[in-house]
Amino acid sequence: MQNLLHNLNPEQLAAVTLPAQPALILAGAGSGKTRVLTTRIAWLIQTGQVSPAGILAVTFTNKAAKEMMTRLSAMMPINTRGMWIGTFHGLCNRLLRAHYRDAALPQTFQILDSQDQLSMIKRLLKANNIDDEKYPPRNLMYFINGAKDQGLRASAVEAFDDYNRKMVELYEIYDQQCQREGVVDFAELLLRTYELLSRNQPLREHYQSRFRHILVDEFQDTNDLQYNWLKLMAGTQGAVFAVGDDDQSIYAFRGANVGNMSAFEREFKVENLIKLEQNYRSHGHILDTANTLIANNSKRLGKNLHTDAGHGELVRIYEATSDLQEAQWIIEEAKSLIAEGAARSDIAVLYRSNAQSRVIEHALFSSGIPYRVYGGQRFFERAEVKHAIAYLQLMDNPHNDSAFLRVVNFPTRGIGARSLEQLQDAAKQYGISLYAAVPYVTGKAGTSLGAFIKLIEAARFETQNLPLPEMVQVVIDASGLITHYQNEKEGADRIENLEQVVSAATLFVSEEGFGHDAPALLGPTSQQMAGPAIVTQDGVEILDADAPLPVVMSPLSAFLSHASLEAGDNQAQAGQDALQLMTVHSAKGLEFDAVFITGLEEGLFPHENSQKEEGGVEEERRLMYVAITRAKRRLYISFSQTRMLHGQMRFNLKSRFFEEMPEDSLKWLSPKVQQHHWTAHPKAAWEDALGAGTNQIAQNIVKKDIGWRIGESVAHAKFGEGVIVNIEGSGGNARAHINFGRHGMKLLDLSVAKLEKV
Ligand code: ATP
Ligand code: MG
Repeated sequence: MQNLLHNLNPEQLAAVTLPAQPALILAGAGSGKTRVLTTRIAWLIQTGQVSPAGILAVTFTNKAAKEMMTRLSAMMPINTRGMWIGTFHGLCNRLLRAHYRDAALPQTFQILDSQDQLSMIKRLLKANNIDDEKYPPRNLMYFINGAKDQGLRASAVEAFDDYNRKMVELYEIYDQQCQREGVVDFAELLLRTYELLSRNQPLREHYQSRFRHILVDEFQDTNDLQYNWLKLMAGTQGAVFAVGDDDQSIYAFRGANVGNMSAFEREFKVENLIKLEQNYRSHGHILDTANTLIANNSKRLGKNLHTDAGHGELVRIYEATSDLQEAQWIIEEAKSLIAEGAARSDIAVLYRSNAQSRVIEHALFSSGIPYRVYGGQRFFERAEVKHAIAYLQLMDNPHNDSAFLRVVNFPTRGIGARSLEQLQDAAKQYGISLYAAVPYVTGKAGTSLGAFIKLIEAARFETQNLPLPEMVQVVIDASGLITHYQNEKEGADRIENLEQVVSAATLFVSEEGFGHDAPALLGPTSQQMAGPAIVTQDGVEILDADAPLPVVMSPLSAFLSHASLEAGDNQAQAGQDALQLMTVHSAKGLEFDAVFITGLEEGLFPHENSQKEEGGVEEERRLMYVAITRAKRRLYISFSQTRMLHGQMRFNLKSRFFEEMPEDSLKWLSPKVQQHHWTAHPKAAWEDALGAGTNQIAQNIVKKDIGWRIGESVAHAKFGEGVIVNIEGSGGNARAHINFGRHGMKLLDLSVAKLEKV
């Protein structure tokens, strides 16, 4: 026990050992909030105040949940597998699995990820003859999710005009369709659980008495529904221990409500409010930069942060001429960090928008530095992986129409659009799923559809007694996907990813403990499935309060949930020491020795969308605060004069945030130039802008194989005649700075701009 507590400062110690009452720990970045929360769990268990089954801990990501479990196991000999530690979505999924009947869901309900949700909405608009220009599918999706995040069913949404009424009507139709297919979207996981607990008193009371301690990390980013969910779970007795930082609230666009912090203080009559003011993560200059920047926000609860770590190094600022050059510079700096002995995984490159990663990835790839992208396209969202998953989904729940449509004719089986129309008509007529409607289709269409059903049924029969990884293997083989990709030009990568699905299943099985004696977190062996998993009381299914786990999910169901909820980063790269690439949003809660924050340009960071919304820039500033405070020892911030984004060249001003950071803590690596005035003399203009040294580097990377050379005269349809001043990048990425005289200097993508030689 001494061990547990001796590494805490007095405020942290006070927080960890608070009595079982509502408490709010309000503190800035790196002050040990997460550490306090984890230590408190260990302390509560070790002192016998609660059993591991009596803890409910909510983290922001699955990764954070896993890390928390690892830390707990390191602190004490305890099996964390059965503990209720997870994200809101993960925990709700578990609750709904345990009480699927009460929640009016099929046992094998499946989770729609956002991709599937969008395609389902598109389908639904089409089936109902709705003009998708007037009602863009994406808007409808935001509308539905927004309503659900506020806890509102269609019947409860107030429609104030015809347009709105139509949206509400479509929301209703959407929900019915989901119900028919046995699928739930992310927001539904929460809403469904919330409704289940609010209407089912015995169940609610059961969980309220079970979870005596509820601990929530990153509380500032809870939305209204999540907050209300917590209130239901806590009841009047539950000790809710919330930790958060109002300055790091960065999910308002998803309905997060920082006001929940004051609501919590008020509604739970919080008497234990503890502030932590010592930062243990970052060196002085980094912390000063963060503090000075965030002081520009007006709505703050007010906290201070100081460090004992000394000033450390200055924050390095770099101005690049283009995004390609910015990427090149990152690589040079990263290389020297690695040469100095830094682990690659201790270096992070952060960006505001996912679209920025392409150029950086490209440069990293060429330089041979291993890297790993988080939160980009999820492994489980790649087309070929989605196909494999769809086959598996059909094995488990054939009524999932999204899965059905994805693979019914993939690989091709001669099932054309007309056959599918016939099938859809039949499904609509009888109000059943596509799978169930197949027997109603006659003729040639009926035969080929019937063959598809046979394939699925045969695979199900063949795999019914197989362990999950073998089952996945058999299904992928039976699907014909491998053969299909073998005939494709770039199919090798896809086949490799399909093999990764099998590895993912293997890893999942070992991590979740299926097939071992230890109680499985989510799922059982088939014998366990058969027995009564839950105790019945007053006709309501309830878990025995001390039973470690609900045993209600088959390994396949559990794996499919995992595929929808997990970030699922490429498994192949797992274990490898790699540079870390991610958006600022996904860096929340993490820390690295060295951090690069890129693209500090007006319109990108702060993002242009933020300038239209009230409080938008303040949210961007908080985002920047999050980014800066990820760094322990070294921080780089860069911006670029030009950037190719979404196919367009942008000429950027540097971010206003530079004016808000303390000059004394910054070190400009490039000359601090305000604005460039291109002159009529190409060479002079180039050198003026870049400095001779950079020019040399730029010259060196010119590739001769792109058909253009520096100094050549060209003609452009819009800008007229010009001279190529410099070329950067190569192949499809090559771009040229061209002086068009009267029209000024332009940076053009050579593969896009239609240039002619003159
Ligand atoms: P964020 O707001 O970014 O989520 P946080 O407040 O949750 O940050 P932690 O991640 O818990 O902060 O802690 C930051 C770092 O400081 C971690 O490396 C942690 O181990 C370390 N740390 C926290 N408290 C102490 C302490 N008392 N002594 C030494 N190191 C500490
Ligand atoms: Mg934290």
